[in-house]
Order: sequence, then C-alpha cells, then structure tokens
Amino acid sequence: MLRLGAHMSVAGGLEKAFERAAQVESDAVQIFTSNQRQWKGREVTDEMVAAFTAAQGETDIKPVVSHNSYLVNLASPKDDLWEKSINGQIQELERCEKLGIPFVVAHPGAHTGSGREAGIERIVQALDRIHGDLPGYEVVTLLETTAGQGTTIGGQFEDLAAIISQVKEPERVGVCLDTCHIFVAGYDIRDPESYAETMGQFDEHVGIEWLKAMHFNDSKGELGSNRDRHDYIGQGEIGAEGFRSFMNDERLDGLPALLETDKSEDLHEDREAIELLRSLVA
Ligand SMILES: [Zn+2]
Ligand SMILES: [Zn+2]
Repeated sequence: MLRLGAHMSVAGGLEKAFERAAQVESDAVQIFTSNQRQWKGREVTDEMVAAFTAAQGETDIKPVVSHNSYLVNLASPKDDLWEKSINGQIQELERCEKLGIPFVVAHPGAHTGSGREAGIERIVQALDRIHGDLPGYEVVTLLETTAGQGTTIGGQFEDLAAIISQVKEPERVGVCLDTCHIFVAGYDIRDPESYAETMGQFDEHVGIEWLKAMHFNDSKGELGSNRDRHDYIGQGEIGAEGFRSFMNDERLDGLPALLETDKSEDLHEDREAIELLRSLVA
C-alpha cells in the first residue's frame, strides 16, 4: 500500500507539519523547508532540528519529503541564474540532511531556448557539482515529472532517464511522479489498460525502481494539454478510476503519495481525499 499524505504548511514551525499530517490521518507528508519563492533560505538551527525530530517521533508519519524552491532552474543556460540555482539547491539539501529528511523533490528545470539536449546537460553538470560539494549526504534528489509546458524538461520519461543515466552518482537521484503532470504531458492513466501502458513506458525508459515518491493530483487540464492545474482526487479529468490502479499496484508499496491541492483551515479536503483513496484498495 502507498503511504498517503499531503503537502502541509509549516506555519508556526517546521514541526507543525506533523500535527497537520496527523489531523488528516495520513502516513507521510511533504513540506517546504524554506520560503519557496525566495532565494534567501531559512537557517535550520539545532533547536529546530530537535523540535522537528521530537514531533516526528510522536507520530508514524514517514517519509518526510521536501519540495525545493520554485526559483531553482538547474537547466538554465544563463550562468548567473544557474549558479544561484546550484547554491539554492545545495542549501536545500543541507537543511534536509540536518533535519533527517530523506527526499527533496526538484523540478528538473527549463532550458528557456537552448534546447532539450543542452538543458539536460546543464542539469547533469549541476547535479554533479552539487553531489561533489556535499559528499556522503544521504538525502536523495527526486526529479519530478513535469507537465511538459514551455521549455521545461521532464515532460517525457526519456528526459528523466537521460539525466539519471548521465549523473556520476545516480544513487543520489530518483523520480517523483506527479499524476496530474504526466496526464497533461500526454500519458493516459484513466483506466487499467492505459495505466498499464503508461507504467510500462515508465519502467522501460526510467525503471520502476527509480520511483521514490508520487504526487497525487487530479487534473483540471485534459490529456496532453500541458496545463499544470491540480484538481481534487476524483473531481478532475483523471477521475477516481485512474487512482484505483495506482492504489492497487504492488510495485508501489511503501512509496509516499502526496496531495498537492488547495485546502481549508480544517484540512477536510485532504482528509476526504485520503479516505477516498483508501476506499479504492481492493
Ligand atoms: Zn507535483
Ligand atoms: Zn503541478
């Protein structure tokens, strides 16, 4: 069984995410360790680590997954932005390593005109630099499948396969599959047949063993529309049937599957989605 959870706010302290995750009876959680729209990262103090570890210890919520800053673009052809991105990613990994967070989800990046090949080369170089600067780190960077909009890399499984096959330390990367993103990128998952076809393609190009986390979002956009607009599970173009296939796929047992949809203060949307997903298990 997948470990269901959601992206949770860290308002009031990083450790507050565990309370919120417990409130919706989830098994896993995703957070931002720092403001995702700012270059200047939050500093993680020993006190913060202690509070975080203690709060996690009171629950069974694991793994914690972090999502990196939206500003980071490891594929950028512009040296200044690329260097800033590498720096930002290093700081993110440092925060996660301190906090004992095993995974950081990262959008591969956008080549902004230099072309797919050049973009992939930049990402590989950036990851090699980051890994070289942080020897022995346990935290793993999960490259996220993207909606394939604009010049983004990661809309095709082949993009991720190319990156993984070229980095010097492939054991330090993995994949986060976002259901909304792959669907609008053109991979159908709405029924058992299309699901088998899509996951077969993933396994062929990337390899299912590289899949370490999932983002569970339904989609407001249609198949192949490249529109990255998340919807509540069962209320979008994918529909609950598509998620039934994921929920009953034994190859995914133990992986975190995290919701990234809007929520009210009482978090009832997440609670209801998690309940719905559990009800799909045969
Ligand atoms: Zn996502
Ligand atoms: Zn998205």
